[in-house]
Amino acid sequence: MKNTIFYTLGENGYLNITNRCMMACPYCIKNKWDNKFYGNDLKLDAEPSIEQILSAIGDVKKYKEIVFCGYGDALTRLETVVEVCRVLKEKGAKIRINTAGLANKFYGKNILPRLKGLVDAISISLNGSNPKEHNEINKPAFGEESFDEILKFAKEAKNCIPEVTITAVSLPSLDVSKIEALAKNAHLNFRLRPYLQDNE
Ligand code: SF4
Repeated sequence: MKNTIFYTLGENGYLNITNRCMMACPYCIKNKWDNKFYGNDLKLDAEPSIEQILSAIGDVKKYKEIVFCGYGDALTRLETVVEVCRVLKEKGAKIRINTAGLANKFYGKNILPRLKGLVDAISISLNGSNPKEHNEINKPAFGEESFDEILKFAKEAKNCIPEVTITAVSLPSLDVSKIEALAKNAHLNFRLRPYLQDNE
């Protein structure tokens, strides 16, 4: 069924509030699996309202973490993210955002202070160890300058969000050890994510 706003995996609940993104990765499930993911169809005909999002989640206490995930970048809907987080936090949720790390470039200002006290963790995807490679693999909206922007965003995030993690997907073409080294040099956590071959 299309228009899945909220789905669960393990102990976590995942939010899919937009299909818009600041990158156009050819390996994204939007393209690879036509938005199908573990029995869910993440294609949205329309972006859900705050009320629809909260209603889809239900009781936050059932989940270890609520994760803004996608497939799309939730930070393209900053105001909605802030309002949803405000309500969820009051109910005691632990909140993570998965992002392409280009929100400051997208809005032309530092939006991270808006997330302070609302978001517990942020995972920033960095698939590429230099501007050229990153641009070729992910097709970001801001071209080769995106790479430095993402690293800057990640370093800045440490001032506002307790847990900041750089993630990389184990794509066959990628030397993830170089990305891990970049993360470590910037005193950021690093997590390798599996390259999923099957949407089930
Ligand atoms: S950053 Fe994520 S959501 Fe955006 S296009 Fe790439 S894989 Fe898809």
